[in-house]
Amino acid sequence: PVRVGVLAVQGDVREHIRVVEKLGGSAAAVRRPGELADLDGLIIPGGESTTMDKLTRAFELAEPLQEMIRGGFPVYGSCAGMIMLADTIADAARDLRGNPQQTLGGLDIVVRRNAFGRQRESFETDLDFAQLPGNGGPVRAVFIRAPWVEKVGESVQTLAQVDAPDTPPAEHGAEQAGARAVARIVAVRSGNLLATSFHPEVTGEHRIHELFLSMIAKRRAEHVGAL
Ligand code: GLN
Repeated sequence: PVRVGVLAVQGDVREHIRVVEKLGGSAAAVRRPGELADLDGLIIPGGESTTMDKLTRAFELAEPLQEMIRGGFPVYGSCAGMIMLADTIADAARDLRGNPQQTLGGLDIVVRRNAFGRQRESFETDLDFAQLPGNGGPVRAVFIRAPWVEKVGESVQTLAQVDAPDTPPAEHGAEQAGARAVARIVAVRSGNLLATSFHPEVTGEHRIHELFLSMIAKRRAEHVGAL
């Protein structure tokens, strides 16, 4: 079976392990650099990206991961995981010394954290999602203080969008009513990197993970072919 690691410094690790195992893969929590060996892919779960960034660097996982990503290693990031994969954060948090949070990067996107604002801090909706295995049907998506993708580079494919008010998050409030809805990007793919603003692992939706496992299988096949 494919071996998938789930970055386990913080966030909803167990749910992802369960989905991967249900799909016939083997899954293991990753906390140490040594645990990155022998993996076919990695999932970065939802959680809090500032904490995840700090711990990933403190546990010396950030540098090896960045090198693996540059080498084409498949990674799927959900919510905070999407932020970790983004090259740029529009509104990066700063620590007490004023240093902005960092990301692993690799995805040529600009993300905005907590983008949906107070009134839609958490919500569920059905999404059309491109490239899904099986015979389609919308994806039930749960958004929890989720980011959206504000800009995508040329290498990046948009897989799903959701309608959201066109006012900037800072202006969200009572006066939001009547704001025009614009389509916001909430799922992207670039090469072996996949990212969603939402949490498919909590609704029984397995097709996003299935897509990720198929990306891993394809890469494995190419590697074998290259030997
Ligand atoms: N708001 C969180 C962050 O900025 C992400 C929330 C989540 O992963 N559910 O890191």
